[in-house]
Amino acid sequence: MTYDLIVVGSGSVGAAASFYAAKAGLKVLAIDSGHPPHDIGSHHGSTRIIRHAYGEGSDYVPLVLRAQALWDELARESQTEIFHRAGVLNLAPDGAGFIANAVASTQKYALPCQVLSAAEVRAKWPGVAAPDGWVGVYEPQAGYLLSENAVGAYVQLAEKAGCTQLFGQPATGIKHAAELVEVVTADGQRHRGRKVLISAGTWVKKLLPFLPVNPVRKIFSWHRAEGGYREEEGFPAFVVQLPDKTQYYGFPAIANELKVGRHDAGQPIETHEQRLPFGEFAEDSTEVSGFLRGILPGVGASLRGAACTYDMSPDEDFIVDTLPENRNVMFISGLSGHGFKFASALGEAAACFAAGKEFGVDLSRFRMSRFAVKMRP
Ligand SMILES: Cc1cc2nc3c(=O)[nH]c(=O)nc-3n(C[C@H](O)[C@H](O)[C@H](O)COP(=O)(O)OP(=O)(O)OC[C@H]3O[C@@H](n4cnc5c(N)ncnc54)[C@H](O)[C@@H]3O)c2cc1C
Repeated sequence: MTYDLIVVGSGSVGAAASFYAAKAGLKVLAIDSGHPPHDIGSHHGSTRIIRHAYGEGSDYVPLVLRAQALWDELARESQTEIFHRAGVLNLAPDGAGFIANAVASTQKYALPCQVLSAAEVRAKWPGVAAPDGWVGVYEPQAGYLLSENAVGAYVQLAEKAGCTQLFGQPATGIKHAAELVEVVTADGQRHRGRKVLISAGTWVKKLLPFLPVNPVRKIFSWHRAEGGYREEEGFPAFVVQLPDKTQYYGFPAIANELKVGRHDAGQPIETHEQRLPFGEFAEDSTEVSGFLRGILPGVGASLRGAACTYDMSPDEDFIVDTLPENRNVMFISGLSGHGFKFASALGEAAACFAAGKEFGVDLSRFRMSRFAVKMRP
């Protein structure tokens, strides 16, 4: 059997790619080391924020708007809870690049956002102790995604659309033949495809060692939070950058538990085994305490936590390209801790690549050529 597309890594991006390619009538094989959704990659922990007014740069806005449309479509098609329009508050001192980019995104793309002074933020959400001189960008149309539901829905829909799934089986190598690409799995089988997508997340360097991607252990935790912090009271998801440039994110409390994490920092790791569970590092229990005391003072003690991984690129922008020695192999990597919201659209882009079609959003800023790195097989 020769597949039109072999997807190596059926997590956030790969599951979406396998669905869109199978739906387009292509013969697809999706391979994964685990049984997605699972907790050995980067998509566990229930929720991921989707922001439209993009603090990392307005160039991301067309991609996130396409992604949002696809998430909404996925919810309808799978009859699964995928997205909560809880709103997102971006908050930082006036003049911070993150806030300037968010404001620029709203202006350039006419996003329905509100730019708020610190006093307006405090009046709207009394649980947020926004210091004077800070600025909030509130996005009522944004919110958060249920990440494991979304990956699960894509996996199921892909199977229904005819995708062959080989799960619990890591890919160990890629071999290039004249017309076809062979993907070798740990059981020694060779799978032939016309096109291959490598969307292996944190451990992509085992297959593509030249990639400038560094795995980092990250933690997040759930905290007791009552009055004023609940989603049903209108409390939004949030991203807050402090004056020292540290950045924290979180979600409205569900069943009185508010999930929060720190976006920067974490421990560089080289193997999955080094991703020790929450609580194994002394700093795990205090990582968000100062932030909560200062900005969300009504949020209480930590109830539990979990560990996850980021795949960091040097500039924290994504890496989307094909191999110079074989343009039939595409890779989507280096999502740097902010990629989930885009996974639907990146999956669609990979399905277009497999079908030989143009994708509607320009991804050229994510090419490898921006790094001084030699790509080799
Ligand atoms: C704590 C935390 C919070 C985050 N918060 C947000 C957020 O709020 N908003 C946001 O947009 N993003 C967020 N992110 C980032 C986002 O979750 C990731 O960027 C995204 O999930 C990565 O998608 P992926 O497809 O690259 O990786 P994954 O979803 O991990 O998929 C990769 C898949 O490849 C498989 N695999 C790996 N190696 C092999 C192999 N050799 N053979 C076969 N299969 C293989 C893995 O098993 C896995 O299923 C967060 C990440 C973390 C860890």
